[in-house]
Amino acid sequence: MAEIRRDPFSGSVVIYSPDRENRPDFTGIKRTIDLSPENCPFCKGNEDMTPPEIFRISDGDSGWKVRVIPNKFPVLNVEENYNRSDNGIFERFAGAGAHEIIIETPSHSEDIALCAPDYFSDIFITYRDRINDLKNDFRLKYIQIFKNHKASAGATISHHHSQLIALPFVPEEVARKLVVLKNFYKKNNRSLFSNIITAELEHKERVVSENESFIAVAPWYSRTPFQVSFYQKQGHPRFEDVRDQEVENLSEIFSKVIKKIISALGDISYNLVLYNLPFAEQDDAGFNWYVELLPAIGGTGGFEAATGTYINTVLPEKAAEILNKF
Ligand SMILES: [Zn+2]
Repeated sequence: MAEIRRDPFSGSVVIYSPDRENRPDFTGIKRTIDLSPENCPFCKGNEDMTPPEIFRISDGDSGWKVRVIPNKFPVLNVEENYNRSDNGIFERFAGAGAHEIIIETPSHSEDIALCAPDYFSDIFITYRDRINDLKNDFRLKYIQIFKNHKASAGATISHHHSQLIALPFVPEEVARKLVVLKNFYKKNNRSLFSNIITAELEHKERVVSENESFIAVAPWYSRTPFQVSFYQKQGHPRFEDVRDQEVENLSEIFSKVIKKIISALGDISYNLVLYNLPFAEQDDAGFNWYVELLPAIGGTGGFEAATGTYINTVLPEKAAEILNKF
């Protein structure tokens, strides 16, 4: 059973998930298991090695292109009832959640630099469908979708997959961003997102790619070397409402940028995160859902843990210049 505790100093929360100790790879050290395709639970033909499937995109025949399964070792699970205790210092709560794995491809060593944009559309459509399904559970407040690619980004299985964790609370980082957006809106009567997009398109020096619906930029505030953010030009707050045409455009720009990154830096470790509006939020204050690609090549340590301040060795303008050579 998971327990969520709040740090009385900072107000941030930690999820304790003792069940995850039972993972076969539990060593205390994150490392990628280099399974052969015969032993890989995410590979085509090994479907019976995973818990029962929740969702699939069929390949039009008897096979599949994307599969979603519950995580065998979930951080949070749906059976949990909400309860909370607080003695004034030590606040703890438990609550329902979900933890799913999105297996992005039936093939073990997919070279995504060679994949057509359609490959990514199937994955984004799966994200949309899963959020829409889980949203019906009123106990869930926020869904975080993320991908850890390769060991130094936190992946334990090398087969391309992303993950979804549904939470019974709104994460601090998201809540903080909403406060900033609301204050900006109140003061300026316009959205911070649209201001940023206008400014980036005007200066161009951090723009990595652009199409009808999106811009990809090495953001002004990049935390990691070669960070790329994908912003909508005409923003919508909720990813679950994204239209098919926008998914196509997102996939097109994403595929271009991932090719640039792989060409410039090789098959590096990275994290992919999707920021979305919390389900219960009525006032979006101009919030737009967006995607961030964070190469895990900078290395974070004690300084970042202590201060929340990142040290980045590559200015975003330089990163954009390098990526734009490809
Ligand atoms: Zn595999």
